[in-house]
Amino acid sequence: MMIPGPIEFEPAVMMAVGMPTTSHVAPDFIESFGHALEMMREVWLAPSGQPFIIAGSGTLAMDMAGANLVEPGDRALVISTGYFGERYAELLRRYGAEVTVLAAETGSVVSIKAVEEELRRSKYKLMTFTHVDTSTAVRVDPEPLGALGEKYGVITVLDGVCSVAGEKIRQEEWKIDVVLTASQKAVGVPPGLALMVVSGRAIEAWKKRTSPVGSYYSDWTHWLPVMKAYEDRRAAYFGTPAVNLVTGLEVSLGLILKEGIEARFSRHSERGSTFRTAMRDLGLRMIPVSEEVSANTLSAPYYPNGIKGSDFMKAIGSSDVILAGGLLPGIKESYFRVGHMGSVTEGDIVTTVAAITRALASCGYKG
Ligand code: PMP
Repeated sequence: MMIPGPIEFEPAVMMAVGMPTTSHVAPDFIESFGHALEMMREVWLAPSGQPFIIAGSGTLAMDMAGANLVEPGDRALVISTGYFGERYAELLRRYGAEVTVLAAETGSVVSIKAVEEELRRSKYKLMTFTHVDTSTAVRVDPEPLGALGEKYGVITVLDGVCSVAGEKIRQEEWKIDVVLTASQKAVGVPPGLALMVVSGRAIEAWKKRTSPVGSYYSDWTHWLPVMKAYEDRRAAYFGTPAVNLVTGLEVSLGLILKEGIEARFSRHSERGSTFRTAMRDLGLRMIPVSEEVSANTLSAPYYPNGIKGSDFMKAIGSSDVILAGGLLPGIKESYFRVGHMGSVTEGDIVTTVAAITRALASCGYKG
């Protein structure tokens, strides 16, 4: 399974997820939940952040940040590098934000200079950016964006759904207020958990709201006491937690920390680079315009001239490797996507490259 999420999960995680469901107030579950919250701070490199573990997908994590941090009339700047940037703009508008989108050309990033010019021109409350846009495999550098947020007093939100626990993120050092993700990607747990770590500054901004949060489920008023309680090893209730997934999360975060977060960043960087080199050797061009803006968690190669995407996907479908088609409207028929995050090994990369080579050959590719 080499799609950009859900990924292949570790057997130990699946074992934990498959255990009989306990009560959400059982002592062993309280311990798992509390421990998972503590480990999130280590994986996110955000020692003083507030972690949240909520039942839902990555879009819920995006929703939660938007719903809690935006009030009607607030200005929000969305830095878009593809499909998920556009989604964030739409989501923020739903909560009444006045949204400006700075969209990159397909395959590129928005320059830091352009972002700073915009922040100088207008006062914004919130700025969002997608670390790795899964539709384009473009990776932005979050560090200078975090610094701009700090300089201009703008709350920064990093959509890290396709990056957390794979690409390098130092949330606290880089001064990013919210780093959000979902369980099914590099965090390594089946779909169903929305995860985020929130800075003290963002919590303060939320406390200063004068209007109620526009989403009942997403409102931190309900969830903050629950997170604090579990971390203090007490049970609390707002909505039933996804008990089995939280148990799996404790195991997966433990494995991530056992590997070491720095070692994990390096491993992803090596695997990503190996895969891109193999694609280039095959003569395939990638959507990201340079190595500097290429994600390490997934790749997005264009089909070579003369190869039809539907033929290629059919040929791949009869191999033992599962890949994903394109996603970005307008060009989705012209490229495919390969996830290489989480526990992906060198052997997985070799097998995937071999399957792509064979599939292209069966479509008549001579490159
Ligand atoms: N943001 C990014 C960058 C994503 O890749 C995804 C999912 N592919 C999402 C947000 C939305 O997450 P979910 O599908 O879990 O709602």
